Amino acid sequence: MRLTVRRQVRELFSRRCGYCGISELDNGAELTIDHFQPQVAQGTDALENLVYCCHACNGFKGEFWNPDPQAVLRLLHPLRDNLPEHFTESESGELVALTETAGFHIETLHLNRPQLVGHRLRLRQNERMARENLAFREQIEAYEEELRSLIERLRRTTS
Ligand SMILES: [Zn+2]
Repeated sequence: MRLTVRRQVRELFSRRCGYCGISELDNGAELTIDHFQPQVAQGTDALENLVYCCHACNGFKGEFWNPDPQAVLRLLHPLRDNLPEHFTESESGELVALTETAGFHIETLHLNRPQLVGHRLRLRQNERMARENLAFREQIEAYEEELRSLIERLRRTTS
């Protein structure tokens, strides 16, 4: 595969696994390239057949291929399928299938493996902490404003 194609796939998927969403930074290394239609099933190196993919998802996917794009038991394509229609994330960090295809997809790719669930929970926690941080900062700014006006008033009464 040409280096430029690899670079294009990497950018197209924002350096994240098309299936589980972990980033190169989460992974501590570059990810690999998956042939959505495997090479053993005559899949090509055309850009539209390539998915940026972590090694774990690539391993679980293996050489699975269902040539029927309307089939129930097929894998979802990260760009061609509308994923929010197929699954959602629970409070406990697990992907919940909304369609039978999603159930098959999640199971085949092991998208509820404990490390991924833990990763999703950590992301949620980071988001929660960022929100709390922002609220604290706003509170501090409000106190500072109040303090400034109190000092101002004090100055006026003592002069
Ligand atoms: Zn992955």
